[in-house]
Amino acid sequence: METVSIVGGGIAGLALAACLEPDRFEVTVYEKRPELPMVGTVLAMWPNAQRALARVGILGQARAVSPVLGSGSIRNAAGEPWATVNGGELFGMSRVDLLRLLDSAVPAAVRRVAVHLQALPDDHGLVVGADGVHSMVRREVWGAGTNARVQSCIAVRGTIPAPVNPEEVGEYWGRGDLFGIAASPGGTNWYASWRSDLGPTGIDVAQALDQARLRFAGHAPAIRQVLAAAVPELSLAQRIWTTPPLRSYVRGTAVLVGDAAHAMTPNLGRGACESLVDAVTLADLLNSLPQDKALAAYNRQRRLRTRALSLASAAMMRVALAERAQPLRDGLLNLARRRNERAGVASGAGR
Ligand SMILES: Cc1cc2nc3c(=O)[nH]c(=O)nc-3n(C[C@H](O)[C@H](O)[C@H](O)COP(=O)(O)OP(=O)(O)OC[C@H]3O[C@@H](n4cnc5c(N)ncnc54)[C@H](O)[C@@H]3O)c2cc1C
Repeated sequence: METVSIVGGGIAGLALAACLEPDRFEVTVYEKRPELPMVGTVLAMWPNAQRALARVGILGQARAVSPVLGSGSIRNAAGEPWATVNGGELFGMSRVDLLRLLDSAVPAAVRRVAVHLQALPDDHGLVVGADGVHSMVRREVWGAGTNARVQSCIAVRGTIPAPVNPEEVGEYWGRGDLFGIAASPGGTNWYASWRSDLGPTGIDVAQALDQARLRFAGHAPAIRQVLAAAVPELSLAQRIWTTPPLRSYVRGTAVLVGDAAHAMTPNLGRGACESLVDAVTLADLLNSLPQDKALAAYNRQRRLRTRALSLASAAMMRVALAERAQPLRDGLLNLARRRNERAGVASGAGR
């Protein structure tokens, strides 16, 4: 039996523990949270994440508890749509449901230790840093120079019980702020981001909600209604943190997965999805190859792809939260909308 120590029993850590061959690996998951969380917002599950959920064996259950996201629009602050995107089979899964289902897929043979590790565990064998953006494993093995970097933006998000109005779904881009409205299981999921002086740690959710209500007071009525219904108990507030690029996700007998390897801005909604893909990719390689070959293949398959997504996500954040460039951005998007409308009319007239 080979020893695998997984630090962090979040999305990536649980998915990995669920997929490693129990006959071949002696797996321990170290998790500081004493129990699964009860509050969490919605994560968009892209096709690659859905394939990873199928590999874990929970795709059917995940679909059963998650609404299909359908189409949504990129809009200006007043709510007028610039462009509509069809989400296809994308579904929005509550983080609470995702963690619960992943947890239930972990074999009984996996040892669970409830502890906040301050250093690598003794006799750790292969140590997997699945411990999120502020990863202790990354700090201990890759060095403090790789510590997470705080962004100037805050992310405030939550759910409200009112059903979502399909006419209002989408992302509203203002001057230096954005607001999103989507379906959640049994209600509406919302999120907002803007440059804020709150934090960087220990942000009071009620205070963040007050700041949001002021910030979005002149925006579309749909936003104001969502914020009027939002309560601190069903909301979260945090500054956005990202990790610097790493030359490799593998060092000796340590490997990073999920946010520990590549925490990105949330603007493409890909962090959790890529964490799932990391986990199943690493598990399948470890199950089928000698360890050194498996780790090298994992690094090859995952590092550049996740780096590209991190860059794309950061670029998306700059466009969505544009301040000085906002008039130019809006002008270009208005132009694109008028062109699309004219093209639609012309093709309709030709029929
Ligand atoms: C505002 C916002 C919106 C987002 N929206 C989306 C979205 O729509 N779609 C999407 O795909 N992604 C989204 N993401 C990204 C997603 O949340 C993360 O990418 C994902 O949670 C990463 O999973 P993980 O398992 O790597 O890390 P985490 O979820 O952070 O889990 C790490 C685990 O390790 C534990 N841990 C940490 N340190 C230790 C230690 N020293 N000892 C023991 N245990 C430890 C923690 O308790 C935690 O359980 C969003 C992120 C933010 C901030």
